[in-house]
Amino acid sequence: MLLRSELLSSAGFSHAFPTRDTPDAALLDALGGGPVVQVKQVHGARAVLASEAMGAEGDALVSRAAGGLPAGVRVADCVPVLVGNTRTGDVAAIHAGWRGVVAGVVGEGVRLLGGGSEGELVAAIGPCIGPCCFEVGREVGVQIGHVTREVGDKAFVDLRAAVRAQLATLGVMRVDDVPGCTKHQPELFHSFRRDGADSGRMLAAIAPRS
Ligand SMILES: [Zn+2]
Repeated sequence: MLLRSELLSSAGFSHAFPTRDTPDAALLDALGGGPVVQVKQVHGARAVLASEAMGAEGDALVSRAAGGLPAGVRVADCVPVLVGNTRTGDVAAIHAGWRGVVAGVVGEGVRLLGGGSEGELVAAIGPCIGPCCFEVGREVGVQIGHVTREVGDKAFVDLRAAVRAQLATLGVMRVDDVPGCTKHQPELFHSFRRDGADSGRMLAAIAPRS
């Protein structure tokens, strides 16, 4: 199944957040062909141009409309964020785990994409580990913010809300939620927290608009 954002679709951006059982071919069809450019993800804040992604490390990938290929990020609990610039047609795919959120990966991706402060961006936040399941140490909770409850020395954090708040400070107000909690919907999603190192990953991707 390919989950989509009505907001990105209505702005003309081909994209999808696939569920775990989705063949890659279905995703490529939805994007109008591939390949999907990816970068080595390291839970940092670096943003990379798709044209320079070969062998690079980063957690935000920007693809320019002129001849650009779709950009994708692999996730299993971390937050996938897909962003489109409605004026230029350029796009960004951002992998935002809690370390990336704290390090500022959303800001780096939006800045490289351009158009945040001009109100030109539309974004969708995909399925990720929800505040129902995302338990961290209290000190990590303080770093991320958006703590929804505390149990002993543990905190439950709403990572999606943290990403949304960061987008808002960057001027990105048109933001769609594609819902789902990766950890407690095993029939739909891979989850690192649930399945450990053997967990699969889901490739969320968006194509530049020509
Ligand atoms: Zn959950």
